[in-house]
Amino acid sequence: MVAELTAPRTFCLREQQIDDPGPGEIQVRVHSVGICGSDLHSYGEGAVGDTPCFYPMVLGHEPAGTVVKTGPGVTGWAPGDHAALEPAIYCYHCEFCRSGRYNICSNIRFLSQPNIPGFFRGLVNLPQENLFAVPKNVSLDVATLVEPLAVTLHSMKFAAIQPGDSAVVFGGGAIGLLTIACLKLVGTRRIWAVEPVAHRRDLARHMGAHAVIDPAQVDAAAEITSETAGRGADCVIDCAAKEGTTNQAIRAARNGGRLLLTGIHSDSFVPFEVSPMRRKELIVYNVRRSNDESPVARDLVVEHESWFAPLVTHTRPLAAIAEAFAIADSYSDGVGRMIVRPA
Ligand SMILES: [Zn+2]
Ligand SMILES: [Zn+2]
Repeated sequence: MVAELTAPRTFCLREQQIDDPGPGEIQVRVHSVGICGSDLHSYGEGAVGDTPCFYPMVLGHEPAGTVVKTGPGVTGWAPGDHAALEPAIYCYHCEFCRSGRYNICSNIRFLSQPNIPGFFRGLVNLPQENLFAVPKNVSLDVATLVEPLAVTLHSMKFAAIQPGDSAVVFGGGAIGLLTIACLKLVGTRRIWAVEPVAHRRDLARHMGAHAVIDPAQVDAAAEITSETAGRGADCVIDCAAKEGTTNQAIRAARNGGRLLLTGIHSDSFVPFEVSPMRRKELIVYNVRRSNDESPVARDLVVEHESWFAPLVTHTRPLAAIAEAFAIADSYSDGVGRMIVRPA
């Protein structure tokens, strides 16, 4: 079966036809797919930033599954093997691929873009290099975190945390929570998490935040500024990407600090407070997906499964994808990360 988004907030299930895997390809039964914030943009807004949906489309790009069969020339994989799946396919010959920046490949194909079906379906054929082996004792639900964890690992190259550095994370969805985990792993001295939903603040503490702030109760930037005696944080990462959070992030950063935009804004034009940005000479980084961080993300998920497992709070079968999206979209029912299970 495949679940197609046919209009905003509307899914349609239909039978799926699939060819045998071609040379170098592996056919995978998709077991688990995480619902990402960008899926929710497509679902609720009919676009991701300035990229509109074309219907019908198949969302889902945080998948894990089981090998069904291998195409000609594939070695090292056998039916029944478990894998986390990488949704991006690169050209390997453009200027940016040749310089090692695969995530900004000029000819990138990302499974779950318009006209390139994503993973809310039972079976998929993928190039062998898009599979990352996961031991069978690791939950495939937790293995769906490999893709978003790779994104947050990628962001750490820009965060460039030094011993003693402090950091703020706006947003406690999967990307925000995994960003906190990465900040912990790289030795950030103090991590603040800013998140309005109570159960997400609890998860932020679990992942390693030293302090959590409810922006409905206090002005987060003012709180951090006062706690740091007016200095601000070395690195501020906006994983929520609301107009208010980006401007709070600008205000919470120290002079010469680093601002990372990891979340995706709904609007393509967003007003930023340029005066404090300029006065502080902030360095602003944009983060786009990941660039060969997936093998390390897989290793971390395998080694720290029990640390990451509490992020996964809900699962639904593919037949209940509409309910799964409704819950994830409304942050209701104590949802952390919602997993859809096509198989
Ligand atoms: Zn995503
Ligand atoms: Zn390329």
